Amino acid sequence: MADPTAPIEGSALDTALTQYHRAADRLGLTDGLRDVLATNKRELTTHFPVEMDDGSIRVFTGHRVQHNNARGPLKGGIRFHPQVELDDVKALAMLMTWKCAVVGLPFGGAKGGVTVDPRALSAGELENLTRRFTAEIGIIIGPEKDIPAPDMGTDARIMAWMMDTYSMNVGYSVPGVVTGKPLSIGGTVGREEATGRGVLHIAREHAQATNRPLEGMTVAVQGFGNVGSAAAAFLAAEGCRVVAVSDVAGGRHQENGLNIDVMRALAPTAMTHPSMPGDLITNADLLTLPVDILVLAAMEGQINERNADKVQAKLIIEGANGPVTTPGEEILVDKNVMIIPDILANAGGVIVSYFEWIQGRQAYWWDAEEVDRRLLALLRQGYHDVAAVSRRQEVSLRMAALLLGIGRVVEATKTRGIFP
Ligand code: GLU
Repeated sequence: MADPTAPIEGSALDTALTQYHRAADRLGLTDGLRDVLATNKRELTTHFPVEMDDGSIRVFTGHRVQHNNARGPLKGGIRFHPQVELDDVKALAMLMTWKCAVVGLPFGGAKGGVTVDPRALSAGELENLTRRFTAEIGIIIGPEKDIPAPDMGTDARIMAWMMDTYSMNVGYSVPGVVTGKPLSIGGTVGREEATGRGVLHIAREHAQATNRPLEGMTVAVQGFGNVGSAAAAFLAAEGCRVVAVSDVAGGRHQENGLNIDVMRALAPTAMTHPSMPGDLITNADLLTLPVDILVLAAMEGQINERNADKVQAKLIIEGANGPVTTPGEEILVDKNVMIIPDILANAGGVIVSYFEWIQGRQAYWWDAEEVDRRLLALLRQGYHDVAAVSRRQEVSLRMAALLLGIGRVVEATKTRGIFP
């Protein structure tokens, strides 16, 4: 009989666990250590009431999953999305642990989420929801314990409410409890565009390492939120021809290159809006365009066994977490499609979160150049560390990144020992 607790095939958790176990096999982990790293330290699920504008009360469900803190305080975003499920949050928390380790941050991995469509709430309802959720998870977060940040559906304004709520509860201001805050309350320059900027830095490192300059390359970007829109703009400024972008509603295509700045100025207007430049295409069309680079900056599981064989891009950069399922990846590998994995490609966000946290602790702020210089240094190191493992062990960049990240967490776990 099938294991009723096993994750749904092709789900984000299935993908994350399959990747983990394959890497654990290669690392030759003992059963005990394998179990320690496969499971979460703590999972909190809360059902909490929110008073809506019309006076009614609605109950929402949210989670905070803390995967592993062997290397330091837990770190990871909070997602507000109608499809948030505990299993997805578990998968994303695990990816955060490996991601922080791959780029050498002294953090473990966590993730949170509330099952809600934030666009369907008024600003007041969103604030009430955020504050109550923060109060609920307030017992396990903190600047030395677990530090949330933005993710899908959340932003600097929401981080400000989280910071304020936590601070009100403890009785003094605690800016370090979240990152991705507005500048006025201890945010850092460069955090908002950090993940997109990181995608550019990684694309550049890869272009240099493989001797194929980015200039003139054609690019399609799935997702036009915080990550996708910034990545598209940075790649266009680098001389790439961004021929297609999409959001949940659909996409736009223009063979001689879309004007990303115009499109960003129109956002959050949907791609399907008549004022958006380019020809209308679907998300499915975008994923299979004949481009040099496909940036996946939307959701999990976008490339899977149903569409992977139709992908024509030569290089996939994972701006989102878990956008390619394991069966999808197997098909891509057979087709010689190169994948720069999420835990390296989108690490720019959490790296600059780390910088925000450090700056806050020192109460001393860096300028934009300093932030970007240090971001580039960590990503460059991460890329070259991963590429070296990939060469030495003749494995994909994904497997190399997992071996590196998981290996570092294993080392920290062994060094600390098992309490008591
Ligand atoms: N949500 C982002 C991620 O998935 C950033 C997390 C953070 O800054 O802590 O990497």
